This record gives sequence, structure tokens and C-alpha cells, in this order.
Amino acid sequence: MPFRTIVGHRRLLTLLSRAVARDTLPPALLLAGPAGIGKRRAAMAIAEAVNCLKPQLDVVSGFSRTEVSGFSRTEVSGAAGFARDACGECPACRRIQRGVHPDVIVIEPGDMGSIKIEQVRDVIDRADYRPFEGRRRVVIIDEADALMPAAQNALLKTLEEPPSASMFVLVSSIPDALLPTVRSRCSRLRFAALSTSEVTEVLRRDHEYSEQDARAVAVDAEGSVGRALQAESADLVEAREGAERLLEYTARAGDPSRRLDAARDVTGKKSTSVGERDQLAACLRALGSLIRDVSILSAGGDRGLIGNSDLEPQLASLAKSFDGARSASAYAAVDEALAALERNASPKIVADWLVLQL
Ligand SMILES: [Zn+2]
Repeated sequence: MPFRTIVGHRRLLTLLSRAVARDTLPPALLLAGPAGIGKRRAAMAIAEAVNCLKPQLDVVSGFSRTEVSGFSRTEVSGAAGFARDACGECPACRRIQRGVHPDVIVIEPGDMGSIKIEQVRDVIDRADYRPFEGRRRVVIIDEADALMPAAQNALLKTLEEPPSASMFVLVSSIPDALLPTVRSRCSRLRFAALSTSEVTEVLRRDHEYSEQDARAVAVDAEGSVGRALQAESADLVEAREGAERLLEYTARAGDPSRRLDAARDVTGKKSTSVGERDQLAACLRALGSLIRDVSILSAGGDRGLIGNSDLEPQLASLAKSFDGARSASAYAAVDEALAALERNASPKIVADWLVLQL
């Protein structure tokens, strides 16, 4: 899992690879940020870059292109230079990937959902000894917030005076659940949610999603691959298709009664009221994401920012009807409709109200 294969987080990964190259990695790191965005992968990439037998130096990866849309010309640059990156193929890299490298230890919650003191005691005992075969022992504690208080206290002394042969990488989506004494001994790196396009890229590359399924799930995933993988993709594909039909219909039809027919299209298909509510909420979130894209296109903004890029031709034609002001008020209406659903308003009433606002 070299740095260059991780999607997103370019700035942080560049920083980490430089620290590996210069041997200036802090002995205790805390990788914090939302769940399901690649923090554990980044931790594994650190372990590989440190212990790879054939490290690659000054790897340039990413993209750079010039976008010309409307009258604006935007330089989009995602290029990153990794000062030191793992090869991903040598015996050390392979052992790390298989979880059998003697110097790369991953600790994670057991069946009971917590990390017990016995799990950390072994690494604490070994911390003072030289690594068996690697340059440096890397201890990764995934879901570190699951460490029992006794286990955290046991770790404290090691984190305070870390032996030069070992380093600790704590990974957590709720870092504030860690004891303040543990937090203060770690250098914290904040990982942000991924963009919709980045989530789509991971779903297509690593999870065999089609472009259409990946997009539909990604726009509803709040920048988390983990969240996207838990979603019912069939329902979300349907929700996004419904949202797009609704938008196209309201772009053309001014007549209120015909608009109300369009509202029936996105409600009333599910037999239970809970199903109906969830389906409308998913449709509204997809609608919000489509309207956002339309407003980017109508403003002549950077097309690289579009979440639903597989629908770009349809969105471009919608952008002719939805100028800046109309899309802004439509977006606000979607937001209000979602809030009303959360307050338990009837899905049918919410949908009827919304179609008249678009
Ligand atoms: Zn290697």
C-alpha cells in the first residue's frame, strides 16, 4: 500500500513521505478524521515506506491539467511528489501487506469491540529491542479510541519516552475519546473527508462498482468510502435517477398541477412509511448534489469539482434553466425539505411543497 496508490489526502501524504525520507517522523502519530476515508491505509503506507527494501525516491504522482470553461481558465493541480515511497513488491512490503512482518504490528479491537491491556503489553515489552529485520518497528493501533483506559495508561510511558527503534501510529475517527494524556503525547494529523470524485474513484478501482453505481453511492456518502460501502446501492441509484427526472421536469414545467405529478414519482413507491421517508431523504440528498453541480456549470466554474460528472451533458442542459439565483433558492429549498423530513413531516407533503419551490 504505497502512498501513491492512496486516493486523496495529497498534502498530508506528501508531508509524511518527506518525514520518512528525512528520518524525522515523530515517534507517536495520531491520524484523526472521519471513518472510512483511508487513515489506516495511510498508516500502513508509513510502515511500508519505512521498511521497504527497495524504496522509490522522489515519486511524482497525481495530475495537472488546465480547465477552460466559459471565460474562466483554472489551473487544477493535484500533483504530489513523494520523497520516499514503498515499492509495494519487495519481500518486506509483501509481508507487511499480508500482516506477517515481524516489525509491523497492527492492534485493533477484538470481538468485544475494545482493545485490552494484554494486547498492548506485548508491544510495550518489545519496544526497547531492535527490530528483527526492518529499519524501525511500526506499531499501528487502529480504532485507538477503543483502547480501554488501563491499556491507554499502560501505553503512556512508552509514548512519553519512545525508544528510537519503535514508532506508534494511532488511528481514530473519534480522537477526543482518547485520554488527554495520550492525545497530548501524539502529533496529530487531521485527515479530511474525501471529495465525491475521490470516493467514486476508490469504489471503481477497489470495489468493482460501475461508474453509475459508484457516482450514485458516492454523492450520498459524505466523503467516506466506508459509508458508501454500507449503503444499499440499488436504492441510491434509484434515488438519484428520481432526483434527476424531477429536476428535468421542473426545469420545463411551470404548471403547478403537472409539477405535483412529478412529486408522486419520487414518493409512494415504498410500502412502509419508514421506507418512504428514507427513500425521499436519499432522493433529496441526491437532488442537492445535482443542483450544486448545475450551479457550478451555470457559473462557468471548475468542472473538476462536479460530483455527478457521468451526467455532465444532462447537467449542462439543466444549467440553461437554472441560473445562479434559481439554483441557490432550489438548493435552500432542498435543505429545508430535508430538515422538515427530519422533524417527521409527511413525505408526501414535503415532496409536494418542494416541487413548487424548484
Ligand atoms: Zn518494498
